[in-house]
Amino acid sequence: MSLPTALIKPGEADRLIAGHPWVYGNSIFRLTAPAKDGDVVQVKDHRQRFIGVGFYNSRSKIAIRLLDRERTDFGASFFRERIAAALALRRKHMPQATSFRVVNAESDFLSGLIVDKYEDVLVLQTSSLGMDKRKHLIVAALLELFQPTAIVERNDMGSRKFEGLHESNAVLHGEAPAEFTVQMNGLTFRVPAGGGHKTGLYLDQQVNYARVAELSQGAEVLDCFSYLGGFALHCARAGAKNVTGLDQSEEAVKAARTIAEANGVTEGLSYDTTNVFDWLREKTVTGPNERLIPRYDVVVLDPPSFTRTRAAVDGALRGYKEIHLRALKLLKTGGTLATFCCSHHVDARLFEDVIVAAAADAHVMLRRVRSFSQSPDHPIVPAIPETEYLKGFAYEVVR
Ligand code: SAH
Repeated sequence: MSLPTALIKPGEADRLIAGHPWVYGNSIFRLTAPAKDGDVVQVKDHRQRFIGVGFYNSRSKIAIRLLDRERTDFGASFFRERIAAALALRRKHMPQATSFRVVNAESDFLSGLIVDKYEDVLVLQTSSLGMDKRKHLIVAALLELFQPTAIVERNDMGSRKFEGLHESNAVLHGEAPAEFTVQMNGLTFRVPAGGGHKTGLYLDQQVNYARVAELSQGAEVLDCFSYLGGFALHCARAGAKNVTGLDQSEEAVKAARTIAEANGVTEGLSYDTTNVFDWLREKTVTGPNERLIPRYDVVVLDPPSFTRTRAAVDGALRGYKEIHLRALKLLKTGGTLATFCCSHHVDARLFEDVIVAAAADAHVMLRRVRSFSQSPDHPIVPAIPETEYLKGFAYEVVR
């Protein structure tokens, strides 16, 4: 069967040939035959050289999401093989993990699909029409590869409307669990199935939780933007003397306390419901002739992305600088700042520039002692820059 062909304008094909899967509508010169939204099209450059095949959607700014460099029918075996390859990568690089992201969209050459494994429950998100239409094939592949007790769909992202998709939170297999159980590094996080961020938890920090915890034995730890206490709990278990988690969400703080109790890690661990900016300001403002006595050995900064768009980067940088400056004032000499940035628009270089500027203002020198990235279940494909978003550093404070 011949497929409709999208011919790409001159100059627009190189990025696609290099492996980037997004074909913007305005880079298509013309379609050789009408294509239905959600159907397969082939993509060629303006000289008719074949580039690949993918799912078409005229409604989306990303009109085609390329999925293969060769022609394929996108049948059951395509999904089984590609998901199996994604799983093999996790097993290789996170052999101990039992909860992890199984498929991370572009990172696994499956643009439009996210699958998280929370022990024996799988949570699926489809963010393109083409992927959404093939949910039954994806579910079949997941059943075969995982034998999960349940597969649920968490399709309540606003972005679906750009693809002409409605919100949907259906149960695709088994019975809807009331809560998800997530094991990370031997700690158990139970979260209500309905709420939470992303599909429920920050799996991308799984490796970093353990690495930051290594730095916090016997330490006074402050975990800013603590959410369910991923860092706080790991640090407390690793033998921190005292841990304080801060988050403005009452719901998150409540859940974090419950999780700490369920893990039997409560000694020296407490959470405050507060705005981190206000809290840090209050703790660092000094009156005339007053000197601030730094209290903490470890401060963790893991804020939400302050910018979803390139246009808002300047404001975000001011926010990052402010919290770093104040966190540094609260750190003892020799103490450690562990800091993360999950905005794709602020790269590691720009992020570190802000930290260095904050250190200058705080009159401290920093020595970088760790670099962090996203956990291996969120693989980075350099040809697709959007796949890299989480970066972090740990610095020792030298005064
Ligand atoms: N460190 C967490 C993830 C943090 S997500 C983990 O590893 O799981 C960001 C968190 O910051 C959210 O829980 C959100 O409620 C909180 N938050 C956002 N802005 C805030 C602010 N100004 N003050 C305090 N908390 C804030």
